[in-house]
Amino acid sequence: MKVNNLILLSLIIFVFSKQYAYCDNFKYGYTSSGYKYVIHNHSESSYQHVWCSQHNGIEEFKNPDKTRVDCLTDTHATEFDFANKWAESVGQALHYSKMTGKRAKVVLILENPKKQMCYYERVKNLSKIHDFDSEFVTPEILNLQNGKCSFKNCKCNRKKKKISFFSKIFKIISNYN
Ligand SMILES: [Zn+2]
Repeated sequence: MKVNNLILLSLIIFVFSKQYAYCDNFKYGYTSSGYKYVIHNHSESSYQHVWCSQHNGIEEFKNPDKTRVDCLTDTHATEFDFANKWAESVGQALHYSKMTGKRAKVVLILENPKKQMCYYERVKNLSKIHDFDSEFVTPEILNLQNGKCSFKNCKCNRKKKKISFFSKIFKIISNYN
């Protein structure tokens, strides 16, 4: 193969691989029963609190069908999700839009914006086709002090020792059953 052709082929492969980037950039944990889950440093609700108060929205707005909108603003029914739940976020936002008559919006939380942007790209591309709005937020909006946010109920402020103590007890009890 000629060098020129090789360069052209490499370029095509590069462009193609960028367009359909493989995304998988999460921290995983495993439960004692082997269930795999994504580890998040802060709770989803912490991001929701900040964003929703900045946009003068109502948090956990109850729909007639008992589903809840994460944040209802004057203009939007907004769904918050971590990047690993990008697919679910779209369905939920569209449903809440139908329930409230407001425009659907997905706010995707990118804990590692450089590595997780490809998930937002998926949502953004879908938003153009299916006529809803989207944006992303990063831990920057939490205004972290020494890696912790100001929400007492957030994961980052829970005492780890207590959790591991209770989970040990839970493990012992569940082993007896
Ligand atoms: Zn936090």
